[in-house]
Amino acid sequence: MSRMFCVLFAVVGAMLVAAGAHAEGYVSRVLNYPVPGGVAVVALGQDGQAPQVSYNKHPVLVMRDSDQQWIAVVGIGLKALPGSQTLKVSTERGSRNLAFTVGTKKYREQRITLKNKSQVNPDPEQLKRYEREFAAQTKAYAQFRDVLPSNVVLDRPVEGGRLSSPFGLRRFFNGEERNPHSGLDFAVPAGTRVKAPADGVVTIVDDYFFNGKTIFIDHGNGLVTMYCHLSAFDVVVGQSVKRGQLIGRVGSTGRATGPHLHWNVSLNNERVDPAIFIGAFQP
Ligand SMILES: [Zn+2]
Repeated sequence: MSRMFCVLFAVVGAMLVAAGAHAEGYVSRVLNYPVPGGVAVVALGQDGQAPQVSYNKHPVLVMRDSDQQWIAVVGIGLKALPGSQTLKVSTERGSRNLAFTVGTKKYREQRITLKNKSQVNPDPEQLKRYEREFAAQTKAYAQFRDVLPSNVVLDRPVEGGRLSSPFGLRRFFNGEERNPHSGLDFAVPAGTRVKAPADGVVTIVDDYFFNGKTIFIDHGNGLVTMYCHLSAFDVVVGQSVKRGQLIGRVGSTGRATGPHLHWNVSLNNERVDPAIFIGAFQP
């Protein structure tokens, strides 16, 4: 009896979670790569006001696409499991669950030797400093400013340069596995100009243990970008920046083996592959 109930419950439960309709506008065509570390663009219908959407209890970016559909642009964490994931969608008519499917992606491995041992295993004081810095960055990523980004398909923050370390790379420092690469690296010379890829507000300008000289920009609706290892800053905290505005210069401050720009993109507090946003995603 109880087993029968479970089966019935599973069937009814599956029916209550409607699947997201297919979105076909410009943003969907460019950004929809629903894999761990990717982005799901989920259609929400055309009518009425913008629905409010949340995923894993975080508010999600909702906008109209070029085909006039309301879409949710959802960041999927690297640790997300492939399979069905659920959005909570609220309108004036009530709340419902909406399912979307996450596929699979295999990420590469890289082994790095660092001579400065303290940057592999920081001493207790450095660890305390890192924890403070980590908390500030975590807070900046969790912001949800009630303004739509000027653009969600982003400009490259630096001109030219090879894309070096990809997002999601599994890294081993002196043989020890550390967190996977949370951003995308551009191999460009020190001093290269770094530009805002969309309008935003600068939320962090600081010099961090691992990330070196770092800038955070809040573009609105949970879209946040980070720029690391800079040699110079051209903005201050609280400043509004325009798309294309100079924010700093490339360097090799913090834990860096040479000059490059490390660039993170975060959506609904999930770090996702920045290559998607500049049309350079490698499936
Ligand atoms: Zn990097």
